[in-house]
Amino acid sequence: MYDVIVVGGGPAGMTAALYALRNGKKVLVLEKTGFGGQIVHSPKVENWPGTARMSGNEYADAFLEQILDQGAEVDLSEVVRVEDHGDYKTVYTAEGEAREGKTVILATGVRHRELGLPGEREMIGEGVSYCAVCDADFFRGRKVCVAGGGNSALQEAMLLAGKCAEVVMLQDLPEFTGEKALQDLLLARENVSARTGVRIVDLEMNENVQLTGVTIETAGGQRETIACDGLFVAIGLVPENDAFAEVAELDQGGYFDSGESCETRTPGIFVAGDCRKKNIRQLTTAAGDGSVAALAACRYLDAHP
Ligand SMILES: Cc1cc2nc3c(=O)[nH]c(=O)nc-3n(C[C@H](O)[C@H](O)[C@H](O)COP(=O)(O)OP(=O)(O)OC[C@H]3O[C@@H](n4cnc5c(N)ncnc54)[C@H](O)[C@@H]3O)c2cc1C
Repeated sequence: MYDVIVVGGGPAGMTAALYALRNGKKVLVLEKTGFGGQIVHSPKVENWPGTARMSGNEYADAFLEQILDQGAEVDLSEVVRVEDHGDYKTVYTAEGEAREGKTVILATGVRHRELGLPGEREMIGEGVSYCAVCDADFFRGRKVCVAGGGNSALQEAMLLAGKCAEVVMLQDLPEFTGEKALQDLLLARENVSARTGVRIVDLEMNENVQLTGVTIETAGGQRETIACDGLFVAIGLVPENDAFAEVAELDQGGYFDSGESCETRTPGIFVAGDCRKKNIRQLTTAAGDGSVAALAACRYLDAHP
């Protein structure tokens, strides 16, 4: 029987594991694909406090080593269900194994929706980005496109407009769907232009697999290539929490509906990181949640020896 079973080996899950281990708890971390979470897709991270520059993989490797050093047990398995039995919980994996823990921390993260175009994944860090807060500085004084037209895309574009020479918004629907006030504010900026009713159909690259432009298609089938240095894709995030709806409330978007306490409606089950309803999804906020959830789990364990 584990004291804490962490579901998800991203920054939130590994931070939760670290804090629980430092409190003398027996901890298992179950991760379905690879330890590190989304950040392993980023070749350059420059906003982790205290570290000027690192790759996402360097961060993930160092973090995994740190929790293993502290005594974490880890396993590559997908968790498909969590059952609450009051004093303990059973965590079922896709391979049909059942693991028991007195507490569970769900740190399942999110997936950024992709355009699904050839070269998109290969050019992450070479022009393609899913996060302006993370990467806008790399495009100072340069021209970028933003794919999307909801509030997230408008906010990403707003941030980029303050740093880039030119920002071109590309929206496949006839209109933007984000807040009107934000649209007005954004489109009033001299360096921002918008194309609506256009689909991105191709990504252009040079011989070093760096983005050089995007090709769009209008509803009438006309194609045009817009030369640019960056493409920020902001067409939505996909939380993957449905399997846990029995034990933890989800909001309409599928995020865990817990407050800053990271508690759920099930005593002994906590949530942490990007999978939770929140405004800012970053390494720092994921790590913050991981520590809050772990310390809440430790308090719960101390009260239920
Ligand atoms: C390309 C890119 C660049 C980024 N750059 C930066 C940056 O420079 N700075 C910054 O602060 N942030 C950056 N971010 C955001 C940052 O990576 C996330 O905010 C952070 O990783 C969230 O951590 P998390 O642990 O909550 O979720 P995730 O990182 O999503 O980790 C969740 C983990 O849970 C696993 N999981 C999910 N479901 C299950 C299940 N059922 N069973 C087992 N395992 C499961 C997933 O496989 C995943 O490994 C970037 C994101 C991307 C995509």
